[in-house]
Formats: sequence, C-alpha cells, structure tokens
Amino acid sequence: MDIKERIDEVKERLCQVAKRSGRDADYIRLLAVTKTQPVEIIKEALATGLEFIGENKVQEAADKIPYLEGLYREFHFIGHLQSNKVKKLLSLQPALIHSVDSLHLAQKIDEEAAKLDIIQEILLQVNTSGEASKYGVTPAEAKSLALAVGKLAHIKMSGLMSIGRFTGHEGEIRSSFRELMKIGSELQKEEELEIKWYSMGMSNDFEIAIEEGANLLRLGTAIFGSRPKDEKCQIR
Ligand SMILES: *Cc1c(COP(=O)(O)O)cnc(C)c1O
Repeated sequence: MDIKERIDEVKERLCQVAKRSGRDADYIRLLAVTKTQPVEIIKEALATGLEFIGENKVQEAADKIPYLEGLYREFHFIGHLQSNKVKKLLSLQPALIHSVDSLHLAQKIDEEAAKLDIIQEILLQVNTSGEASKYGVTPAEAKSLALAVGKLAHIKMSGLMSIGRFTGHEGEIRSSFRELMKIGSELQKEEELEIKWYSMGMSNDFEIAIEEGANLLRLGTAIFGSRPKDEKCQIR
C-alpha cells in the first residue's frame, strides 16, 4: 500500500467508527506523526491533503520543518520536552505542544513565549496507563497542575493528552482513555479552564479512542507504515 491508500483507509475507518459512535467525524482531527520519516515522504502525505503534522524530537523537527514551510497548516510537538529545548522548539512555531507534564516545564514555556510576545497553546500529558515507562502527570496531580498552568499569562492550556496502555487488552486501553475523559470533564467544571482537546489514540488503538471521545488522533504507522528505527529485534 502506498501513503495515499493508507490515508484513505485510515479516514474510512475513522468515519465508520465516528458514525457508529454517533460522533461527527468533522470534529476529529488527524495528526500525522512524521517522526523518523524523511521530508520527501512527509511532502507526499501533505500532498494528499493532510494538514497537521507531529514530531516528537526537537532536533529532528528543527532539521525538517524548514523544508516543509508553507506545506502544512499546523505543526504539533508530541514528545517528551526538556526545558533546555523549549526556546528552540518555540522558534519552530508549534501550534500545539501536547506533552507538558510539569509546572517547571510550563513556566519555562511561559517565559520563552513572553519573550516572543505570543501565547503558546499546550496540552497536559496525563499518565492514565499507570505504566512507569511513560511520561505524564498522574491523574491525581492533573487538577492542581492544570490550575497552576492556567494562571500563566503566556500559555493557553486547551486540553489533555495521553498514551493508551500498551496491551492487547481492549478493556484496559479503553479504561485508560475513559480516565482521561473523566479528568477532562472534572477540569471543565473550573470556570477558568476550557478543555477543548483530547489527544488520544495512536495507530493500534485509535478506534477505541474515538469511541471514548478523542478529537485529536496521533497516527504514525497507520499512515506511513512501520518505522524502520522501531525495529528492536536485529539479527547480527
Ligand atoms: C510515535 C508516536 C505516536 C504515533 O505512533 P503510531 O503507533 O506509529 O501511530 C503517537 N504519539 C506519540 C507521543 C508518539 O511518540
């Protein structure tokens, strides 16, 4: 299958699940996760009409974004972010940073955004899977962090992000997404907060994510095929 065929298939699946769940597919945004993909391949995907691209490493994004200028509508940052990379990241004008998981990081983003005289939109990454290997605040910490981040003048916190459980158990994946939705609706009760985005669902679990309420899907493999660098099993 080529990229165009994969994208068509993904869109078809997205529409089917949305319909089945009584949701309007027009409100579900598809972010093409372009990490490890070369510029030429990304251009091919953009030529099919995809508009949103996501990268998870600042250096890799900095290397590729200049060659894609004018071809995408929004660039999103979805990976773990270190404070010392914030300035460089903001120079690439990310429309949304999905992965803020500490007040320290939020303050750094606020500080750099103030210098640029912009308001940076971000999501809080919540670890709803309970897996120690994942970044993100715990569900218990999410509210206090959201309220603290909400006070920063140069940040707009517009939603939540999580990575589903890495398991074949549909029920466990589903409950981790459900937990993110629940945290979001709790936060929504706070007058000063507006929770617009639920960034959840990757190639292997996006249909479950849609059923649970996701409106921002992060898809890599489903669009581009498997990433060569992901292959951990190597025969020497
Ligand atoms: C790589 C990545 C994705 C996309 O993963 P696929 O399984 O290839 O769809 C989504 N979100 C984050 C944070 C990632 O790092």
